[in-house]
Amino acid sequence: MTARVLVFGLDGIRYDRLLSSPTPHLDAIAAEGFLAPTRIREINPTISGPCWATIATGVHADDHNIFGNDLTGHRLGEHPCFLARADKAGLSTYGAAAWPPLLTGDSGGPIFRPTVAYTPDPRPGEPAGGDPYTDQAVADHACEVLSSSDVDVAFVYFGAVDEVGHHVGTGPEYNAQITDTDARVGQVLAAVAARPAFADETWTVLAVTDHGHVDGGGHGGDSDLERTAWVAGRGPGLVNGSVYEHADIPVLVLSALGVA
Ligand SMILES: [Zn+2]
Repeated sequence: MTARVLVFGLDGIRYDRLLSSPTPHLDAIAAEGFLAPTRIREINPTISGPCWATIATGVHADDHNIFGNDLTGHRLGEHPCFLARADKAGLSTYGAAAWPPLLTGDSGGPIFRPTVAYTPDPRPGEPAGGDPYTDQAVADHACEVLSSSDVDVAFVYFGAVDEVGHHVGTGPEYNAQITDTDARVGQVLAAVAARPAFADETWTVLAVTDHGHVDGGGHGGDSDLERTAWVAGRGPGLVNGSVYEHADIPVLVLSALGVA
């Protein structure tokens, strides 16, 4: 059996709203493995940049030196992401995300350095980031790559939920976008399951959010709503009752791949 890993990065999905929104695909991951909230460590502001950098590297802002969404001055060279570590070990890695700092030089990035990176062009007249249009482009690209090539570890990011939260708060539209994002997760999982070699592969699947949101939309503060994130996963050793924090993600990924 060939070990492969797929990590979904799902921006700004509040834990209580995850539980109260229909999410059959994430529910299936949790049912076969685990889902648990995790508290963002106090050293990290509840902002995308520092939280994704911790998820990528396993160290916090006092080490990676990212305290906001301007990543300039980061120390990611000393603390490479799990994709770069896997790449260095000779594995094939892939990343797809519409928020440019994750995979490009935008704002001092990237946080993730895969072998193959995909960031969709923004819709004409729209800012770059994870909206439903660009998230769907990410999902479609991930499906194409994961179904047609032997990627060992992939990071696939969807940002539309966070954007809806910022625009209209955490009401019905926010919950609806959580369900839409879950459908994109399901689309990518279906592409993986349709791989010709799927029966000879062991896939570890993780899903993680970076931070929560206040009711009116927004984050960066110290409320429990903002500091509560969550991690879900299924795969060898990932059982109901497991609890992991952001900084555990690289160890989970690399140990599943057999990379020291
Ligand atoms: Zn975020």
